[in-house]
Amino acid sequence: MEHLDTIVVGAGIAGLAAARLLQRNGRRVVVLEARDRIGGRVWTDRSDGEATDLGASWIHGIDGSPVAAAAEAFGLRTVEFTVGGYQPDSRPIAYYAPDATRLPDEDAKAFADDIHTVDATLATVVASSAPDASYRDVTEEAIARQGWDEQRAARVREYLEHRSEEQYGAWIEDLAAHGLDDDSIDGDEVVFPEGYAQLADGLAEGLDVRLEHVVTHVGWSADGVVVSTPEGDFSAATAVVTVPVSVLKSEAFRIEPALPDPVAAALGRLQMNAFEKVFLRFDEKFWDDGVYAIRQQGPEAAWWHSWYDLTALHGTPTLLTFAAGPAAVATRDWSDEQVAASVLEQLRRLYGDAVPAPARVHRTAWQDDPFAHGSYAYMTVGSTTADHDDLATPIGGVLHLAGEATWTDDPATVTAALCSGHRAASRILNRELPIDELWVPEAGERGRDPR
Ligand SMILES: Cc1cc2nc3c(=O)[nH]c(=O)nc-3n(C[C@H](O)[C@H](O)[C@H](O)COP(=O)(O)OP(=O)(O)OC[C@H]3O[C@@H](n4cnc5c(N)ncnc54)[C@H](O)[C@@H]3O)c2cc1C
Repeated sequence: MEHLDTIVVGAGIAGLAAARLLQRNGRRVVVLEARDRIGGRVWTDRSDGEATDLGASWIHGIDGSPVAAAAEAFGLRTVEFTVGGYQPDSRPIAYYAPDATRLPDEDAKAFADDIHTVDATLATVVASSAPDASYRDVTEEAIARQGWDEQRAARVREYLEHRSEEQYGAWIEDLAAHGLDDDSIDGDEVVFPEGYAQLADGLAEGLDVRLEHVVTHVGWSADGVVVSTPEGDFSAATAVVTVPVSVLKSEAFRIEPALPDPVAAALGRLQMNAFEKVFLRFDEKFWDDGVYAIRQQGPEAAWWHSWYDLTALHGTPTLLTFAAGPAAVATRDWSDEQVAASVLEQLRRLYGDAVPAPARVHRTAWQDDPFAHGSYAYMTVGSTTADHDDLATPIGGVLHLAGEATWTDDPATVTAALCSGHRAASRILNRELPIDELWVPEAGERGRDPR
């Protein structure tokens, strides 16, 4: 059996960050990864000659972001693309009314102002909400306090439903009242034209990553950990386990002795979501110029309500939309053609029957992914924001959970994953490591040439 200082389970951003910091500080580390690639839910497909991010796309706010700092140090090109956080405004958005006519600018502004008004009320309502309140409960209360007529309230209500789905991949009645508390955006958002996976490549440089090592069992005691895979067992003084909450909950991945509280209780309240991307590539652009996104309102928009214009990334006319929450569940077994036809029906309402079929459709299947079972975790009703940090409570002094679901501030993001890996490494070394050790070259090491 191979013996290490630390075993890291999972070569996603959390695992790679933890491993990189530990190795840099003199620890012998192995990363065991089930897939035949690194990056986990950061995954860039290049099969059609263009970089398509099937997992994360955005840095949701570059101000003070360690991901932005790492990306810059690794020389990664980014393109500004704000409104990835489901903002109602701040960048040009083409809004379409329930009757499929384009909203005049002043009406779109009035609508966005209504969202801001409700959000200001919502903060107070959420702060005093019952422990078992859902996001639906608090948003209804915030809308009711405005005294608006039914139509005005209906537009805002559906926007809040869509925000719950697009930000958390969860139906509004299933998301905790506090479920969007930490969903903050500081500064511009950016995307990676050459792919987010370059971040994983940068972090993984020099690490011992064993691909196609599916971990089935993690045994822990005061003496350390033993991690089992069909390829063999590994032992170490400590382990960092970064698999998604869905894997932690599955029979295929056993931790023994079983996770103690507060870890187990927190895990029980976090749930993997249903959230899929649908990329539509067209031969020609038929939609509005000069807008970041297209949004439609009204009952027809229940599933397909928002399209993001990614044309600037590669020059190919491309719209990205999401099957999120109920739409992702309902379309899970559909063919790409069926999904494209359903999306096209809505686009044709807005832009006319001449809208062509897309030349290419690229759809993700995270719900069927055996090493993710969904896209990221959300807080179910009854959960509190503290559940994220509680999930990372060190176990027996030897076992540390990390990953997007274990970070309270902006959970469900690449930033959360990176920061949680940094925290796990700091706890193992028993001192706070500078996070920039992730990207600042060591003395004597040459920095990367920014491209
Ligand atoms: C469609 C989609 C869109 C997203 N959009 C954004 C976005 O725009 N911006 C943003 O910041 N975030 C976004 N996210 C979330 C972001 O991708 C994740 O929060 C982050 O990448 C999670 O990193 P992690 O290291 O915690 O987990 P993971 O990346 O899941 O890493 C865990 C690793 O463990 C491995 N593993 C699982 N089971 C086993 C096992 N049994 N044995 C060994 N290894 C195992 C997995 O293969 C994986 O590599 C998105 C995610 C998805 C799926």
